[in-house]
Amino acid sequence: MYDVIIKNARIPQGDDTILTNVLVKDEKIAGFIDDISGIEAGNTIDAGGHLTLPGCIDSHVHFMYQGFPHRENFLTGTAAAAAGGVTTVIDMPCCTVPSARSVEQIKLKNDIIQRQALVDYALWGGVTGEDVREGWLHNVQEQADYGVVAFKAYMTPSVPTFPRVNDPEMLEAFKAVSGTGLPVGIHAENFAMCDYYVKEMQKEGRMDGPAWAEARMELAEKVAIELGISFAEETGARLHIVHMSTGIGARLVGAAKKRGLNITSETCPHYLTLNYQDAMTKYGPLAKIAPPLRTPRDNDELWEGLNNGSVDFMGTDHAPYEIESEKHKEGMNIWTAFPGIPGVETMVPILVSEGYNKGKLSLSKLVDVLSKNAAIHYGLYPKKGSMNIGADADFTIVNLEKRWTIDSKNENSMCGYTPLEGMELTGKVHQTIVRGNLVFQDEDESTLSKLTDEDLETLVHNYPEGIEEKYADIFEEFPNLYSAEYEKSYRKEHPELIDEHIRGIKGIKVKPGFGNFVKRQSIQKLPKKIEYTKYKRLEFYE
Ligand SMILES: [Zn+2]
Repeated sequence: MYDVIIKNARIPQGDDTILTNVLVKDEKIAGFIDDISGIEAGNTIDAGGHLTLPGCIDSHVHFMYQGFPHRENFLTGTAAAAAGGVTTVIDMPCCTVPSARSVEQIKLKNDIIQRQALVDYALWGGVTGEDVREGWLHNVQEQADYGVVAFKAYMTPSVPTFPRVNDPEMLEAFKAVSGTGLPVGIHAENFAMCDYYVKEMQKEGRMDGPAWAEARMELAEKVAIELGISFAEETGARLHIVHMSTGIGARLVGAAKKRGLNITSETCPHYLTLNYQDAMTKYGPLAKIAPPLRTPRDNDELWEGLNNGSVDFMGTDHAPYEIESEKHKEGMNIWTAFPGIPGVETMVPILVSEGYNKGKLSLSKLVDVLSKNAAIHYGLYPKKGSMNIGADADFTIVNLEKRWTIDSKNENSMCGYTPLEGMELTGKVHQTIVRGNLVFQDEDESTLSKLTDEDLETLVHNYPEGIEEKYADIFEEFPNLYSAEYEKSYRKEHPELIDEHIRGIKGIKVKPGFGNFVKRQSIQKLPKKIEYTKYKRLEFYE
């Protein structure tokens, strides 16, 4: 007797597929079988013959909760993940109040978010300049022991509660992290250069969208990555370049791997598909991100990077802001609007449509960059990112033929905008299965539509009972755990809009709190393999 049969699943076998049925017991893959006659199971899910990938992972999200509830919360963020075929998200430590870079702070965050989660999640740890200056680097090993998957550090300022590192502070942070065996992920932009050229462009009176990208130039990312590689070589730290936006970055990472260094990188769907001239002219602040969008040449070089292994896997840097108070507030301009866009809901469809369906990625590469490689890199494999027997029965089921158009009004994220607006895709997430449970079904009704005002009051607008006593020290320093941005936000005055949005979320089949916190299982490294044989040189190089 099995718990679940997922029938008519077309699973990858290298670059081919086979049609089979998946048996699930105790939330894990128990086997694959061609003929299910005579097999009993408590529940059957019909995958309809669609492509059934191992559950996809978004290794880089900012769900902004607790602290910025006007932007997103873990319920809306994981609803977006589910609709996007993402079965595990890895949330960043920076965008909460307080930020999550001690065990106590991480436990607080986890108590608050777990009851909202709809898919599984792991957590990034963090290390900042403040940790170096204040002698708090002992937090690094403690976070690692608790089960974070990696450490985030910023070379440029981001949120006030997560201070940047200057160069020597980054070196000290790398030394501390290298002892844990975990990767350190850096936001790689040279702060002094970005700061100087932003001010220069402001003096020139530039107010157009593309000015943002021209000020935070490619060279600022290049030198930041070069410094990171030097420090990694010096300290032995495993360096990971998050949201890498440039082709030169991919070449630097590839060369470092070739030298035998433990350097890895990720890129985001928008760096593969958008360019700053078009998108920032059209969308202005709604396409403003850091690092900025680049050029069509960078798009091509990053696709190549995924193919040759210098870009290891995908993340989205999902970071929604509130349009009314943070993107298009009266008097705001391209320099003062907040940098960030959503992404978790469209990553898998974009990679399927623009990568696999257009022949830019093979099926095995698609599996590697959406699922397997991030799971290995962050120590979650083979529990996640695998179709081995005994792995969690997580699946992303994709209708490869379905045509649709990205429309921010239909997204489950609270974001409400995207510079990917209007992009026509072929390939859509049909079902999302986490631990053998159907979490999302395309075009179906949602369990969330039935949540009452009281449910939402408890779940979204309040913290768990007794939490103020449990974390008295933190609450003393950060009463209410609200950010200054939330206090000035539009949704603070209109909390009913958050409720309305949640009830309008589509396709969710489980209850909030279904998603589990997954601690890092082990320390694993990706092979340092660069596949030059598959590397097709671009014409404009010659
Ligand atoms: Zn980020």
